Amino acid sequence: MALLQISEPGQSTAPHEHRLAAGIDLGTTNSLVASVRSGVAETLPDNNDGHLLASVVRYSADAEPVVGQAALETATEDPLNTIASVKRLMGRGVDDVKHIGTRLPYEFVPGSSGMPLLHTAGGDVSPVEVSAEILRVLKVRAEETLGGELQGVVITVPAYFDDAQRQATRDAGRLAGLNVLRLLNEPTAAAVAYGLDQGAEGHVAIYDLGGGTFDISILKLNKGVFEVLSTAGDSALGGDDIDRLLANWLMQQAVIAEDAGHVQMRHLLQVSRTAKEALSISDSTDIRVDLQDGSGWTGTLTREQFNELTGTLVEKTLIPCRRALRDAGLRASDIGSVVMVGGSTRVPLVRERVTEFFATEPMQDIDPERVVAVGAAIQADILVGNKPDEEVLLLDVIPLSLGIETMGGLAEKIIPRNTTIPTARAQEFTTFKDGQTAMSLHVVQGERDLVDDCRSLAKFELHDIPPMVAGAARIKVTFQVDADGLLSVTAEEQTQSVKSSIEVKPSYGLSDNEIETMLRDSMEHAGDDRDNRRLREEQVAADRVLESLHAALVADGDRLLDDTERRAIDAAAARLEEKRKGDDYRAIKQAIEAVENASSSYVERRMNASIREAMAGHRVDDFKSS
Ligand code: ADP
Ligand code: MG
Repeated sequence: MALLQISEPGQSTAPHEHRLAAGIDLGTTNSLVASVRSGVAETLPDNNDGHLLASVVRYSADAEPVVGQAALETATEDPLNTIASVKRLMGRGVDDVKHIGTRLPYEFVPGSSGMPLLHTAGGDVSPVEVSAEILRVLKVRAEETLGGELQGVVITVPAYFDDAQRQATRDAGRLAGLNVLRLLNEPTAAAVAYGLDQGAEGHVAIYDLGGGTFDISILKLNKGVFEVLSTAGDSALGGDDIDRLLANWLMQQAVIAEDAGHVQMRHLLQVSRTAKEALSISDSTDIRVDLQDGSGWTGTLTREQFNELTGTLVEKTLIPCRRALRDAGLRASDIGSVVMVGGSTRVPLVRERVTEFFATEPMQDIDPERVVAVGAAIQADILVGNKPDEEVLLLDVIPLSLGIETMGGLAEKIIPRNTTIPTARAQEFTTFKDGQTAMSLHVVQGERDLVDDCRSLAKFELHDIPPMVAGAARIKVTFQVDADGLLSVTAEEQTQSVKSSIEVKPSYGLSDNEIETMLRDSMEHAGDDRDNRRLREEQVAADRVLESLHAALVADGDRLLDDTERRAIDAAAARLEEKRKGDDYRAIKQAIEAVENASSSYVERRMNASIREAMAGHRVDDFKSS
């Protein structure tokens, strides 16, 4: 699938005219804008020659919102009106936000359509609006630097962002007056920045350690096509945690009380961050902490000490690395190139451990804080039509399996996670009861076996199924996910082609923590899930047996059974009903067998009777060739 050249109607330009385009890295901590100028992709600075824009917005009652460093500096004085890390809230619902809420000190109010709003002095604002403020500043910066209006931008998003989060990002771009050509996965952008799409085929790992998040992505380059094989990470791990570790250490060294107050804490974090950055280039650093009584504490921190303090944290990033490799079905030695992304990969210990883990020297020539924006700029330049000869193929994956609820509350996976999109998969289901004319379908997302442990995405019904005996209808359920990650589900009864379909659009998507937890749970509960699955399966089988037995007894039990037989069958059925209520799948299984044994001659008699009935009035010859 080649990407189309974008050209607005009535805006066609001469073939050689250079169109202004930009790549935007809308980060949790910092955001950047980059553009291709004279064939070189580079990030664009503000008036003070700073390239990073702190992703912080401060609202006040009587002035325009303040964005960036100035807003960051007032964060502790005015926490409720200073919004940081808004990326974590993008595409989330009110309930999702409650879970993240403990870490974010904002006041939330429910907005229309369940979208949470942040209550600030400047009014109630949605995460989309906050992000749009950041994008607006970058737009102005780009247009002033480039000397004209931007015709299109590419905004990057984490590879695991679900549909709702991508939609919210796109909306923020539109709100900021940008023409969003495409959303691009951050790891893919980093790979593009290094020109890996032009290079040899193979596997690439993108290790991204930012301010508050860690992401690892495994990409596969095949015939010029980028495919995300797997993603993993930790949404609560990053440079901020290093700062906190150092601040705690300083509190011990300088004997500062736990409840020293936020001015002291902010100072400690600032000092810690400066020390951390210094240790990225030198072997030791002198530290001075101003204490509240006016005195000060001075000391020295060596890189060795720093490494000891932060070793566990760095090691923690390797756990998702292992998982991503496993999901991709690869070993560390299969990875050809490793790309370093995020400011925290400047920490020498991080580089050392990553080099050891993948047994290869990671790529870090391009500034790890700017590399994503640079890749996005290259992509934007192509999409806006400045390089008509180049076409780029970029593929994406589904972060969590998509499936359907089957009998007994089991989730049947139809599209497994990490399947590249666009994709379509189908599976056949059948009816459970004789004469069943409707079937309700419940679309779920997650890794666990039981529906209750998965996320519910949509419910719909297929009607007008022609009445048939249980198990005779053939209902084909097709899942289709388009290139933008949108899922649609169709159900069709094959013998009579009765159709029903729905476009599934999760209103708020899953939080990345939720994704993490769901993945972890599916591993931890693999054993429980197996037993649960068996239990549910036996329960379903029991219901089916009891149901058909009951129907048969009503129809001809009196006619075909004598008292002794009837008592034996009733006793076995009662026992099965009893076991059905328990949670011992073996006992249910045995009870089913007992019912089957007790009723075997009855079943035989019924079959003979129904054959006689079917043949009544016909000559044997009628049946010969059919
Ligand atoms: P995000 O992707 O979350 O927006 P960035 O990639 O901009 O984050 O990384 C920000 C983090 O990088 C911060 O925690 C910052 O302290 C850290 N950082 C920046 N420079 C250095 C450095 N020289 N040494 C260590 N950490 C650094
Ligand atoms: Mg980043």
